[in-house]
Amino acid sequence: MAKKVAKKKTAPKSKKYVYFFGEGKADGRADMKNLLGGKGANLAEMVNLGIPVPPGFTITTEVCTEYYDNNRRYPSALKGQVEKALARVEKIMGKNFGDTNDPLLFSVRSGARSSMPGMMETVLNVGLTTKTIPGLIKKTNNPRFVYDAYRRLMMMYSDVVMEKAAGIEPKSDHDAVRHKLESEIERVKKKNGYKNDIDLTTDDLKALCKKFKTIIKNTLGEEFPDDHMKQLWGGIGAVFQSWMGKRAVSYRKIEGIPEHWGTAVNVQTMVFGNTGDTSATGVAFTRNPATGENIFFGEWLPNAQGEDVVAGIRTPNPVNEIGKTDDTRHLPSLESNMPSLYKQLHAIERKLERHYTDMQDIEFTIEDGRLWMLQTRVGKRNGQAAIRMAVEMAKEKLINTNTALMRVRPEQIDELLHPSVDPVAEKKAKQLAKGLPAGPGGAMGQVVFTADDAEAWAKQGRKVILVRNETSPEDVHGMHAAQAILTAKGGMTSHAALVARGWGKCCIVGCSELEINVKKKTIDVNGHTLKEGDWVTLNGTAGRVYEGKMPLMPADPENNKWYKELMKWADKVREIGVRTNADTPNDSTTARTFGAEGIGLCRTEHMFFDAARIKAVREMILSDTEEGRRNAIAKLLPYQRDDFKGIFKAMAGLPVTIRLLDPPLHEFLPHTEKDIKELARDMKVSLKKLKARNEALHEFNPMLGHRGCRLGITYPEIYEMQARAIMEAACELKKAKVKVIPEIMIPLVGHVNELKKLRELVVSVADEVQKKHKVKVPYTVGTMIELPRAAVTADEIATQADFYSFGTNDLTQTTFGLSRDDAGRFLPYYVEHGILADDPFITIDQSGIGALVKMAVEKGRKTKKDLKMGICGEHGGDPASVEFCYNVGLNYVSCSPFRVPIARLAGAQATLKKKAKKRK
Ligand code: PEP
Ligand code: MG
Repeated sequence: MAKKVAKKKTAPKSKKYVYFFGEGKADGRADMKNLLGGKGANLAEMVNLGIPVPPGFTITTEVCTEYYDNNRRYPSALKGQVEKALARVEKIMGKNFGDTNDPLLFSVRSGARSSMPGMMETVLNVGLTTKTIPGLIKKTNNPRFVYDAYRRLMMMYSDVVMEKAAGIEPKSDHDAVRHKLESEIERVKKKNGYKNDIDLTTDDLKALCKKFKTIIKNTLGEEFPDDHMKQLWGGIGAVFQSWMGKRAVSYRKIEGIPEHWGTAVNVQTMVFGNTGDTSATGVAFTRNPATGENIFFGEWLPNAQGEDVVAGIRTPNPVNEIGKTDDTRHLPSLESNMPSLYKQLHAIERKLERHYTDMQDIEFTIEDGRLWMLQTRVGKRNGQAAIRMAVEMAKEKLINTNTALMRVRPEQIDELLHPSVDPVAEKKAKQLAKGLPAGPGGAMGQVVFTADDAEAWAKQGRKVILVRNETSPEDVHGMHAAQAILTAKGGMTSHAALVARGWGKCCIVGCSELEINVKKKTIDVNGHTLKEGDWVTLNGTAGRVYEGKMPLMPADPENNKWYKELMKWADKVREIGVRTNADTPNDSTTARTFGAEGIGLCRTEHMFFDAARIKAVREMILSDTEEGRRNAIAKLLPYQRDDFKGIFKAMAGLPVTIRLLDPPLHEFLPHTEKDIKELARDMKVSLKKLKARNEALHEFNPMLGHRGCRLGITYPEIYEMQARAIMEAACELKKAKVKVIPEIMIPLVGHVNELKKLRELVVSVADEVQKKHKVKVPYTVGTMIELPRAAVTADEIATQADFYSFGTNDLTQTTFGLSRDDAGRFLPYYVEHGILADDPFITIDQSGIGALVKMAVEKGRKTKKDLKMGICGEHGGDPASVEFCYNVGLNYVSCSPFRVPIARLAGAQATLKKKAKKRK
């Protein structure tokens, strides 16, 4: 009979709070980021891969959560687990923490799940005390290094642990302990005529350490701790405290990182790159993060600590020969100075990239001829590099093409399509002002204040930036001539923003720091005064304004083979169509080269501003008889017909949605006395009468006034002329064997009867024109859904519509009840203070406006199962909104030409995301 083994009674095993890593063995793995934070998980993974990592341990994010849940008390098992891990590290290193002969030192760093750069705290050199210093000096034979390490510890520790974590709020920046200590170093340097920290002698550093202790005591009322264990627990506590620090809390809010995630703490053996000539430190990327080229790329410094490489105090050297540029050709590479260590590093970086299947950003230190890896993480990259890397990695079979598509953020494509400000120059430059990034890319030019000046200066071959409080359609010629547009007012859907985006022109709006004096031709901004002709540089992608000239990098997407390949892959995967918003043959052609599959919105009003036409338009508006209007309109017909012919030709074979006149009529009215007089003369009416009519047309709230289909109902002759121009152009081209697919769109419909009436009007004109030309053109009549009532009654409206296009600019405006022209006054505040997560004119407000869109899609298709639907509001080019549109079942998105490639990639990603979700 089998012996019954008595079960040993053991105390319940306490939760594992501490994960060890070192010497080929780690408790954690890369996929344990939630528990170990990004840094801890990657350190563990590197150890498991057999890569040399200074041993240490990670205290889990759960400790952080429990610490805050339990009134800032650690779980009771923590202490024992930390001590056990410490002993394991000591064994591996053959040194003890706090040993007076050969002390082990630690770094203590935070590590959240997702990186929170600079938000939390780090303390290095923990374990240096008056007892351990002599031992370390004897061991290293390098007193300067030891005192330098000690003063660094004091600076970090007093700042992070004794001041910030203790909740001490200095009265001003000057009263902060770190500032006082830094000033002391500066004082000593100045006294001795030193330029750099490296000039400080051993005696200087020794004296500084002594002085530091006094400053710390006097500032914070407490001695700097002279006990290694006290330092360690102080460091650990400070990292946990920093999770609730002001900076971290606001960063989390912005990034949407939940508080309960907590941070981990990594305690790791210190290795030093500054112990002498056989030591070094560096940072590197497994591929070039600026170009994407597949070469190992990095910087290093002999005899230095990690922060020296990034701090920019010493110019770092290129890590290898291939990475040298003309500027760094004369500098020594690690490859030539320490060839065998370089070889080892190179092998490790290859291994890391293959393992993680993505470009890695690594940190390394060489201590007395031994290489240690301190960190690996997925490296940040610019748009150009992201595209090249993704495509090349797919070709190398490191990843598949779908992964490649997901690797590029759609916005990153933008960088390829516009010239951009040289990032190196921008880093060094001081920003003059900041506004909203309305039109992407970089531009540089001389300041001018009127559209006419912009045009005149540009004609003389000068590069200008048009600066206005806000723009109006009358400024279009100057806006076109300018390199970029800068306005003090207006939001992301203001006139300037819409127009500039359409052209792919750099534009910054709502730059409220500018005080523009148009009369004096000056701008006062943050204590500077700019005059007409002064040079400025704009980064429209980030909304930053700089004084003076800065170098620009040209755009050349057509010759970028990686971009073209990626787009090909995107189109294969993508299911939602991508059209463009374009009003001219030129824009249409540009959009086609960017891959547009049709026009989703042709705004006809822009065609009315041309100098040759505006008079006829004004005549039409200001005449108070139908006959007068018809006479004026007749003059416009040939122009409009030619406009449409040009666009149809440019888009041959693709559908073109043309919207009939939409904006409030008053936008076309003459403003100056001179214009009014001239018009009265031309129209042969008295000045008084014309002025009276002009005033009568004034509206209190034009955006909600006499515009859109309301114009078509009250002045049917306008829409009649436009429908005729469209159909005549289409019939003439059809006869010339050019394929045309016109889609006639009625704006601002709120009630089915509006559409019914106007549909009848359009159909009767279309029938008449086709009959006259004896051809049939496959035209359709549809409407925009841009009023809440239209969305709510989308089932009724669908009875009269062949298609829907969501005008989410107006739909956002009318649903929120906020005017898009005035939103600039408060919307930025809302977004900054988290009242709204995003500007709803940029990315669709999914729970509000989105709900209306969804309802309209469902209701519309209940009436007509296959009702074609798209979006033509600005959201059509916003990646998150594209994904939303795809998920609610729209057939296409339509956006400005330069955003077409962005929408193509965003569309492909939406499909891939949906498929991945289904698989789960
Ligand atoms: C809209 O309202 O979303 C739209 C596309 O029309 P507009 O911006 O011209 O009013
Ligand atoms: Mg609209």
